Amino acid sequence: MPLTEEQQAAIAEARANPQPTLRAVAPGMEAWMHAAIPVLDHGLIRVVDYMGDDRAITQAARVSYGAGTKHVSSDEGLIRYLMRHWHSTPFEMCEIKLHVKLPVFVARQWIRHRTANVNEYSARYSILDREFYIPAPEHLAAQSAVNNQGRGETLQGEEAARVLEILKGDSTRAYDNYEAMLSQDGQAGLARELARMNLPANVYTQWYWKVDLHNLFHFLRLRADPHAQYEIRVYADAICEVVKDWVPMAYGAFEDYRLDAVQFSGKAMAVLRRRLAGEVVTQEDSGMSKGEWREFEGALG
Ligand SMILES: Cc1cc2nc3c(=O)[nH]c(=O)nc-3n(C[C@H](O)[C@H](O)[C@H](O)COP(=O)(O)OP(=O)(O)OC[C@H]3O[C@@H](n4cnc5c(N)ncnc54)[C@H](O)[C@@H]3O)c2cc1C
Repeated sequence: MPLTEEQQAAIAEARANPQPTLRAVAPGMEAWMHAAIPVLDHGLIRVVDYMGDDRAITQAARVSYGAGTKHVSSDEGLIRYLMRHWHSTPFEMCEIKLHVKLPVFVARQWIRHRTANVNEYSARYSILDREFYIPAPEHLAAQSAVNNQGRGETLQGEEAARVLEILKGDSTRAYDNYEAMLSQDGQAGLARELARMNLPANVYTQWYWKVDLHNLFHFLRLRADPHAQYEIRVYADAICEVVKDWVPMAYGAFEDYRLDAVQFSGKAMAVLRRRLAGEVVTQEDSGMSKGEWREFEGALG
């Protein structure tokens, strides 16, 4: 279990003492509150707190549009309109705070999303746990031959076994040395802020991450996407399941207009119009590069 005993006790206490509130409550989200959702081999996400629901979005939109929204018959229609027209600020009225436990190399990608508030476990103050991400055999893949930023076929047989052995051995050795340097048994003991520099990037860290729904959707669009690295995508996929229950209307609009949608360039639109008029168009006379053409054909399935 990736939670410490203290964390589990704090969660049990929080769940045992529900408080009556006048604040907006999203019933779907209440079920996720405090529960640890396992991700990767030692990671997790856990909803610590949230603010707002689908109605918070429409409420804010109706303040800004006033009588102009009266013709929109339902909250769902209004939310879909907002998403379709990139009216982002009503979505900023909802917020979520997550406790995330993740390998450091995933944290480096995650932290690039600047529009969130983060508080990370201090490895200057505390000693990191002996927990390292070791990929499951099916995720131990070779370098992709077509995409410099991607992976290809799964490693097989002896090579897979050797790589796993290296990953496990190096992690264990690095942590043994970390402990040996920290030890104050018969020596001064190296400062925690220095001893940590010897740990590999697959060691786990933890943080609290608070973000509004607009910026969370931006994060999810980039990280729940097949182009994102598997190890961050699984976190984004888990968050998607939570958001689906928290703000079902907003998530439905996000799924439709962002996750499942495709953006076409002006050149791509011209090709589509020519094709609809019955013309056979090839990459050579499309005005698109080979790469663009490949992505365009891929988007059309
Ligand atoms: C598949 C993939 C591959 C990637 N590869 C690389 C890579 O090789 N190297 C690399 O360095 N990064 C890489 N990244 C990271 C990427 O470039 C972004 O840094 C990251 O996705 C965060 O996106 P963001 O800046 O839009 O998000 P946020 O920081 O959350 O910002 C959200 C939006 O707010 C606005 N914004 C925020 N801060 C500013 C600012 N200071 N000035 C102006 N506008 C701002 C922008 O409109 C931005 O889109 C990759 C990301 C993905 C998804």
